[in-house]
Amino acid sequence: MKKYTIAVLAGDGIGPEIMAQAVKVLRAIEKRGAVKFELAPAPFGAAAYFECGKSFPAETVNICDAADVILKGTIGLGHEETKKIPVDEQPERGALLPLRKRYNTYANFRPVVLPKSLAHFSPLRPEVIGGGIDIMMIRELVGGLYFGDKERGVDADGRRFVRETLEYNEEQVRRIVETAFATALQRKKILHNIHKSNVLKSSVLWNEVVDEAAARHPQVKVHHVLVDAAATYLCLDPGRFDVMVMENMFGDILSDQGGGILGSLGLMPSACIGPEKSYYEPSHGSAPDIAGKNTANPCAMIGSAALMLEMSLDMKKEADDIRRAMQKVFAAGFTTPDLPPLDGKPKMLSTGEFGDRVAAGLD
Ligand code: NAD
Repeated sequence: MKKYTIAVLAGDGIGPEIMAQAVKVLRAIEKRGAVKFELAPAPFGAAAYFECGKSFPAETVNICDAADVILKGTIGLGHEETKKIPVDEQPERGALLPLRKRYNTYANFRPVVLPKSLAHFSPLRPEVIGGGIDIMMIRELVGGLYFGDKERGVDADGRRFVRETLEYNEEQVRRIVETAFATALQRKKILHNIHKSNVLKSSVLWNEVVDEAAARHPQVKVHHVLVDAAATYLCLDPGRFDVMVMENMFGDILSDQGGGILGSLGLMPSACIGPEKSYYEPSHGSAPDIAGKNTANPCAMIGSAALMLEMSLDMKKEADDIRRAMQKVFAAGFTTPDLPPLDGKPKMLSTGEFGDRVAAGLD
């Protein structure tokens, strides 16, 4: 029997509630008898900071280093609560970015998928959403503005200032662009390159690297779209996109818009792939507004566990089974409170009930 160790970083806010559902689903897969998952829970994020003064404690680093793969929930607090943590230990700066940097998880896959049967979840009109949505957003995850040098100080006139740098070298761009071409080749052979070269020189270099890669992959049709226009097209005509590639901050923002056109961020899983180790997390945050209420939609978390099985543990069939099991719950007319009910008849499930039904569907 195959055995895998998974570091489980439940995190803050709704993180523990939705992670519990992903664990139920992994246990249901285990029951089939082909694989054993050793789950290694570890503190991460604001909860870890309040427990031991570090949001990515050494104990958690060791657990992640030793694991085959990492499954992460959500981190972060509400605006006011966050101020109780020193700036450099606040969850993204103190835990999330160091996690990404440690494992060099440069390729972030964010599927924006809504089958036709669930098109009523989307706020877009039926004639806009057509046969459903199926976009793969690919975001560079360890470069750009989020990882550049930062300086804060007071200038000669006594004014507070801040300086943050946006840096990419051609190799950083090339590896994510090659990932995007490889993905496009497996799909519809259409790639939308998202940039801002009319203003940013980083985008000029980015586009040069895309053009060089395009010459190596003539089978792929490349479209160049300014990021601001891409935001509009996502709402007006999402069907034009199949694979999209973009730098770190553009991807952070546009992928949340992806959640918006699906109808909820709770439907957005993600995979963060590094050369040796990868981690998987929902695209959304810790949703402090609904934390502890057992109302969060666990689909993005369960979907991230499915991506983990598919992309890191060579278990595509099980990943597809999990996605089908989630769709079956919706097909039976159930929803979670963030989604509109079919035909206006509410058959709401709590976070835990949704997880139970998905796990039962895998038996
Ligand atoms: P958020 O993604 O947590 O929430 C935005 C909105 O979406 C909220 O109304 C929330 O209730 C809703 N939502 C999100 N996930 C949901 C789910 N699974 N089911 C139902 N509704 C859901 O963004 P925010 O409120 O801007 O940020 C909250 C905290 O999360 C902040 O501290 C932020 O820094 C952090 N954050 C963390 C990550 C991460 O862990 N990778 C990503 C984004 C934000």
